[in-house]
Amino acid sequence: MECSKKASTSREISLDRARQLKSRIQDYIDVKDSIPKGMALKYVLKQERLKQKMLSLFNATENDWDDWQWQLKNRIADVDTLTRIITLTDSEIEAVKSVGKEFRWAISPYYLSLVDEDNKYCPIKLLSIPTATELAPSDGSVDPMAEEFTNPAGSITRRYPDRLIINVTNECAMYCRHCQRRRNIGGSDNHVSRAKLQESVDYIRANPEIRDVLITGGDAFALPDSTLDWLLGELHSIESVDYIRLGTRTLVTMPQRVSDNLINILKKYAPIYINTHFNHPIEITKESKEACDKLANIGVPIGNQAVLLNGINNDKFVMRLMNHEMLKIRVRPYYIFHAKKVIGTTHFNTSVDDGIEIMEYLRGYTSGMAIPTYIVNATGGKGKTPILPTYLISRGKDHIKIRTWEGEVMNYPNYPTVPIEELI
Ligand code: SF4
Repeated sequence: MECSKKASTSREISLDRARQLKSRIQDYIDVKDSIPKGMALKYVLKQERLKQKMLSLFNATENDWDDWQWQLKNRIADVDTLTRIITLTDSEIEAVKSVGKEFRWAISPYYLSLVDEDNKYCPIKLLSIPTATELAPSDGSVDPMAEEFTNPAGSITRRYPDRLIINVTNECAMYCRHCQRRRNIGGSDNHVSRAKLQESVDYIRANPEIRDVLITGGDAFALPDSTLDWLLGELHSIESVDYIRLGTRTLVTMPQRVSDNLINILKKYAPIYINTHFNHPIEITKESKEACDKLANIGVPIGNQAVLLNGINNDKFVMRLMNHEMLKIRVRPYYIFHAKKVIGTTHFNTSVDDGIEIMEYLRGYTSGMAIPTYIVNATGGKGKTPILPTYLISRGKDHIKIRTWEGEVMNYPNYPTVPIEELI
């Protein structure tokens, strides 16, 4: 009797708690279907229409479309071609023309096919097509990370004790309007010479504390397969290098790049990790899923480094949905970078408060798998600094004061660690 009374009380308490938890997610459930998603039928149909328009304009076939070299060769980089594909207002056309004199732009046919012409604030459009705001006076700088002062050899950037970057090219499938390395884009595409790459490899060989090498650019996957194969082979042969990371946005901007040949190359040099860069759920499409699947199927883990961008993803629900959608295509949310003040991109800057609010509404509200680290890059290249809402309120001698994800403040014991030798 006593036992069943206790059971019914615990069930009532559990049901009450479940109701409470359900209410904590209701606001997200109410809005999530209104956030554009690349795999929603409405957007799939729009993408197909623009794709067919481009195939006919370029007199190309479906096979061409699936070929990354065709995509790269046919990047849209002039306003006449652009306006034959999508409709722009006179002032938008003027803006593209004047920005083009100052900053280069180019969009892969695939990424342009994702534009939603019915939405003036379509994230794809804002991230790919120049706007007059890029030329507005701003307090941005060209190199807020002071990367020019961290180049000990070849095309290396070294900012940390055990890892470094090899910059291999300034080429990308698209020149993103928010690019934080805009200064590298310049006026033409240039791959780093074999001699400079060799110098970078030699430096790593001579400095065995380097255990983690990130190949990036530009976009690591803008390199031809033969160069990638050679470079990965060289790095793989260095005993002190534990693994290689590749930085590429092609999974988002030109997923055709993940060809069978590329997969066969990557397979040879495990462990390889990929860092990619989704910024909005509308970028997650059938094609990007296929590319991620191919990589995941050969054991290449993919992490996402989003940038927090005004009008794109500085919204707690957009970011939550994007993280969920990425996990469905086997991409792990890794970082959200706070956007730096880079000349020509400052209209995308947000407050740090926006980032903290997003983090506040991730922890507890969704699985830890869906929670990246929010990072502010300390000025002057002083490194990544994680920023969190305040969960640790104070630290006392024998207890700490914490705030839970639901806002409850409580004490938590902080016992001294007893050395294991005194216990066993
Ligand atoms: S792909 Fe990356 S490096 Fe290239 S333009 Fe876009 S953000 Fe910049």
